Amino acid sequence: MKKCNCMSEMVKKIKEANPELEYVFPPIELFSGRAYISFTVGQKNRNGKIKEKECPMRLSKCPFCGEKYDDTQEVASGGQP
Ligand SMILES: [Zn+2]
Repeated sequence: MKKCNCMSEMVKKIKEANPELEYVFPPIELFSGRAYISFTVGQKNRNGKIKEKECPMRLSKCPFCGEKYDDTQEVASGGQP
């Protein structure tokens, strides 16, 4: 399956609109090339203090065009490209 290039298009657009930027990193997981979103979660530790952390979730579809990412290949090949 051909992957859409919405993310790189967005990066291009952001750079064009903001030429002063040195770089733009899209929220893409390096291994799978899939977009992710990050949830901020807070968990109380034993001292009753809340510890905050980021909880990234991989998306199953492109957030821009809705094209489904091919995850069957990833599972079947055991992580190999
Ligand atoms: Zn897309």
